[in-house]
Amino acid sequence: MATELSTGTSLQATDPEIARLVEEEERRQRETIRLIPSENYASKAVIEATGTVLTNKYSEGYPGRRYYEGQQVIDPIETLAIERAERLFGVDHANVQPYSGSVANLAVYLAFCEPGDTVMGMALPMGGHLTHGWSVSITGKWLRAVQYGVSRETGTVDFDEVRRLAREERPKLIFCGGTAVPRIIEFDRFAEIAEEVGAILVADIAHIAGLVAGGAHPSPTPHAPVISTTTHKTLRGPRGAMLMCREEHAAAIDKAVFPGLQGGPHDHITAAIAVALEEASRPEFAEYAHRIVDNSRTLADELIRRGFDLVSGGTDNHLILIDLTSKEVAGKVASQALDRAGLETNYNTVPFDPRKPFDPSGLRIGTPSVTTRGMGRDEMLTIADLMDRVIEAARAGDDAALDRIRDESRELATAFPAPGIDA
Ligand SMILES: *Cc1c(COP(=O)(O)O)cnc(C)c1O
Repeated sequence: MATELSTGTSLQATDPEIARLVEEEERRQRETIRLIPSENYASKAVIEATGTVLTNKYSEGYPGRRYYEGQQVIDPIETLAIERAERLFGVDHANVQPYSGSVANLAVYLAFCEPGDTVMGMALPMGGHLTHGWSVSITGKWLRAVQYGVSRETGTVDFDEVRRLAREERPKLIFCGGTAVPRIIEFDRFAEIAEEVGAILVADIAHIAGLVAGGAHPSPTPHAPVISTTTHKTLRGPRGAMLMCREEHAAAIDKAVFPGLQGGPHDHITAAIAVALEEASRPEFAEYAHRIVDNSRTLADELIRRGFDLVSGGTDNHLILIDLTSKEVAGKVASQALDRAGLETNYNTVPFDPRKPFDPSGLRIGTPSVTTRGMGRDEMLTIADLMDRVIEAARAGDDAALDRIRDESRELATAFPAPGIDA
């Protein structure tokens, strides 16, 4: 008796349990106000590309130089992705194969460092990323990582400290960029210091790649010989990453990604990255990028007006870091109350946080997702009002109020189509 193959049958028929959970997540993403700054709504086209038979292919190597046959289709797809990245960011060379941002950064270390070498990056609790040398990360364990932070007065990068540390420690690499940086990254100032001490500057633009592509944040390209980015944050592509660099580093970067660190690239993701880069080259995308920043500034101003303390006193980009100390609510209590009320955020350390990392004082929010849905000034004012009332209810322990606010946030969310979900 022939066994029935599951190929050709739908997810619903094959695995109703997973199908139901995916549907539930679709509903959740449609009905909530998503304010996590590293998240977004990828377009239907991007999601469609990730769900293709390209996932079946193996293609270790690079276009024209593969270790497997049958690359007639994969080679032009990867070549398109590479060319689009090079054009969009104005770089000599792009590698679109890194599985994710963390892996892309590991490839950078592999390309330029030996174990134990000195490297420099922003400390995690100051706004850096784990892979910029934080102690629990492999990058802090296998390298000698020196960490800089922000100034206590301004909440922005302390360039005196960066320069002093760089002169004293002579790092091989300096990483700039981060995960909780609400201000412009001054690539030119980092470049000047890197040049003075003979370090290679790596601009990690994972959070802001979409803003850079859309002209809403200065480009690192004239200043940083190596650029690392994810593709799924403001860039609004699939989950993945890219490394971009000057011609002199192209061979080292490619060799580090494959065969240094990875095996076969995820070709379905490569195709979706190509789609996202095409979308990001359009005039509408530049509008979206600028609207993210406008929305973020509006939201920040309204929160300040309502007595919230913002790290660095505001924002220049998509991200707002709130210090809740003055509101007498811990970050985790606030983020959980907001989640119950249909507003998705994450708790976060703030610079010089007196509380512990798993129960910090801060809340991190951002405007990419709500901007992608088409929200603007009026909605930002409403979101600030909802947040203010949630924090008040959280302090009072009023769960009934949170449930009432949830109805309001659902109504606001569903008034705007969710790209990739709604038709
Ligand atoms: C998100 C992020 C990463 C890591 O990306 P993953 O895809 O989560 O591994 C690296 N650097 C920065 C600055 C990031 O924001």
